[in-house]
Amino acid sequence: MKNKNLLSSSIEDYLKAIYQLQEQDQAVTTTALAEELSISAASTTNMIKKLARMKLVIHSPYRGVELTPAGKKIALEIVRHHRLIELFLHEALGLSWDEVHDEAHKLEHVLSDNLEDHIADFLGDPKEDPHGDPIPTKAGVVAIESQQALAELAPGTPAQIRRVSDQDPAHLRYLSDLGLVPNATVSLIESAPFDGPMRVRLGAQEHILDRQLARQIWVIQGGKPTRRREARNKKEKRNTT
Ligand SMILES: [Zn+2]
Ligand SMILES: [Zn+2]
Repeated sequence: MKNKNLLSSSIEDYLKAIYQLQEQDQAVTTTALAEELSISAASTTNMIKKLARMKLVIHSPYRGVELTPAGKKIALEIVRHHRLIELFLHEALGLSWDEVHDEAHKLEHVLSDNLEDHIADFLGDPKEDPHGDPIPTKAGVVAIESQQALAELAPGTPAQIRRVSDQDPAHLRYLSDLGLVPNATVSLIESAPFDGPMRVRLGAQEHILDRQLARQIWVIQGGKPTRRREARNKKEKRNTT
């Protein structure tokens, strides 16, 4: 993309954040965006105006902030960089899944097309990053899967973990210690009323899980009995590579 080098990393961060909020089916309001980026509402408002002038977003009172095709193209490229780098750091350099997000956030803005292709080749054109997030293809195609938050699962329903939010390293360490990682099969035993904690089963074990944490875990319904083993292998691999 010709003018891409002219874009500041802060513009790229905004476009990526808008994309990721849309990905979570959230209406992208100035407030949500400011919160996502930990930036003041005033600067966010200014940036949205700037992005609208650059024809990268459209801002309307009813629909919030939406990416234009040009804005989406840039966002997807940055998302691809981010997730490829996370997986590369994890698989090739052995960083654990709670360490890769912050590193990838810095490197995603400086990755050349050439190095991006080499990393993708090295990893065998991967479909998902270490947190289960889909990696857009070079052409900007993303595999969409209909997932629900573990927090919304009905009791007794087996489910397979697909994706865990990559934002909080301490949460990630805690969840991987419990074995709550992508591909693990869980079932919800019960959830306490009034947004209270949830009791989940993973293999032979039961865990009490804070509801807020259960909102950061995305699942699909149904599970396979072998998953626990896969989750274990994944964990072992993480520790040893
Ligand atoms: Zn990340
Ligand atoms: Zn990730």
